[in-house]
Amino acid sequence: MQVWGDVMNDKVLSTPERLPQLVCCKVIFFSLVLWVFCVAAQASPIVNIVPETVQLTSFPIEYFIDDSQLLDYQSVRKEAFQKTTSTTTLGTQATVTWYRITLYNSKKQDKSLFLNLPKAYHVRSIQIAEERSKELTNQALIDLNQASDHPLMFRGAVVYPFVVPAGETTVLYVRSHVYSHQWFSSEIYDDAHSRRALVGGHLDIALLVGMMLALVFYNGLLYFATSRKENILYSLYLISGLTWIALSYGLISKAFNVYGDSLFILNLSVFTMPIFLLLFMMAIFETRKFYPKEHRALQGVLVLLVASFLYGLVDIAGALKPATGLASLMMVVTFSVSISLLRKRNPLAKFFLIGHTFFIIFNGFAVMYYMGFVKPNYINSHGVGIGIVLEALTLAFIISYRIKVLEDIRSKQDELKKQASTDPLTQLYNRRYFIAEGRYMVKKAKANETSLSVLTIDIDHFKAVNDNHGHNVGDLVLIGVAGVFQRFSRDKDLIARFGGEEFVILLPEAGYAEALECAERIRQGVEKHIFKVNDGLNLEIRVSIGVAPVDVTTLESLESAIDRADKALYQAKSLGRNRVCGADSSGSAVDCESVQAS
Ligand code: GH3
Ligand code: MG
Ligand code: MG
Repeated sequence: MQVWGDVMNDKVLSTPERLPQLVCCKVIFFSLVLWVFCVAAQASPIVNIVPETVQLTSFPIEYFIDDSQLLDYQSVRKEAFQKTTSTTTLGTQATVTWYRITLYNSKKQDKSLFLNLPKAYHVRSIQIAEERSKELTNQALIDLNQASDHPLMFRGAVVYPFVVPAGETTVLYVRSHVYSHQWFSSEIYDDAHSRRALVGGHLDIALLVGMMLALVFYNGLLYFATSRKENILYSLYLISGLTWIALSYGLISKAFNVYGDSLFILNLSVFTMPIFLLLFMMAIFETRKFYPKEHRALQGVLVLLVASFLYGLVDIAGALKPATGLASLMMVVTFSVSISLLRKRNPLAKFFLIGHTFFIIFNGFAVMYYMGFVKPNYINSHGVGIGIVLEALTLAFIISYRIKVLEDIRSKQDELKKQASTDPLTQLYNRRYFIAEGRYMVKKAKANETSLSVLTIDIDHFKAVNDNHGHNVGDLVLIGVAGVFQRFSRDKDLIARFGGEEFVILLPEAGYAEALECAERIRQGVEKHIFKVNDGLNLEIRVSIGVAPVDVTTLESLESAIDRADKALYQAKSLGRNRVCGADSSGSAVDCESVQAS
């Protein structure tokens, strides 16, 4: 007290002879403050269980990384623990980590509580030691390889019951031994809240999974419709992504009650996902054919990933260690390739780049979380899932867009083909198509020994139509005549405009007699048709027709049969027009009587 009194009376006693004593007092005082501060800083964070209902999801705890992996509870409790929070992530260098949770009950009744470890499904083993007054009161060991029937294991979570007696402190030591990444979450609940936490589902994850399942289904249907391999690769990518999401959110453990090594091997999806993404890129951009440089870059990463996958089949934990570096390399390569394709003006590259940017950003957050570089939050702890889904949606769009692009190209090609084979005015086939298709039909008729005949048709005095009513009216007549030809012939007949006002029709499975009858039907059809070409202007049109059967027993060509039909047509013209003449396969005589007579 004397010392304190002296300090308080500092001003009064500040004489030179008192000075050394004063300095000494100050040093003692500040040392005391410093010591109190240090003790306070080092003290375990104590969670005071005050409220009636206990629902603690975020509270201070401590951790100690056991590099030797050999320490037991008795030896570890003497180690210096670091402060952290109840949800924590320490990366790949903390395979065996001890967590210490200190709980104090200031109430007058004992408190029965539960320690829930909701992320227990992904670890190798969990050990819990319960301590009161520095004495071990209870302990539990859960080897995840035998966890399916363990009484403390429930739907992927460890649920450990314990008591904090009134006015006492209970300390829980939790040893978490992981396969690769140390990410840990602890929650303290009363009975009701512990149960509620265990049955509560993640709506957001269910939504992600549902969306991806729908995409897998949609893509399977697309594959059946198009048989394009990118749909299968995309489905496999989605299934890998789904497996990874289901695994890392504990959905597989919860649904099937499986843990340990048999579950951990499913982490191979970390390799299959980028493998199928690279194969998808190769397929959709056709890199092998169009972009050989980019193709080689993708192939390079693919080889590394396949090698890691194969290694993972024997040692998955070992394969996962460099996985983060490999993932970064893959992202750099795929990103550079998509930029290069964009610069080369590939129409799909910009969409891929958008999707892939999402993937890279969110996966970047996730990698930082798993490595323990950033504090956990919703975005980084769900980063991979969000990234996969956003990219998957963009890829689905790319697939649909590509189908549209391919459809456009095909319909343009069809249009060009049609243009090349049809006459633009009458929409009948043109000469070129008629000759090509006609030759094929002749060959077929000869092979099958079926008959085949040709008609050549010329409009009578057509020049007069043009001269009297104008070229436009002449055009309308040509269109009208083509319509009559179509009406009076069969679907299998090949009708073409040969040039000007001359037409040809090839009649498969029609002998000379049938061809003459058909020609006469057409002639009469034109004769009876009223050509309404203008308001109030009705024209009557006549045609002359030459008929010739193709001699299928000899080597006669289509052109030779057309020549004979032309001769018969010339005869019809010279006999006064508006008639049918035929030249049979003997080629000697032209007959204009038999039709008129019939
Ligand atoms: P014929 O009874 O001897 O066959 O007499 P024609 O007047 O029909 O014979 P010609 O071959 O002298 O006349 C054919 C006419 O057909 C000449 C040409 O101006 C016309 N023509 C050819 N192509 C077209 C076309 O695309 N549109 C129109 N309006 N006229 C055409
Ligand atoms: Mg004519
Ligand atoms: Mg003519």
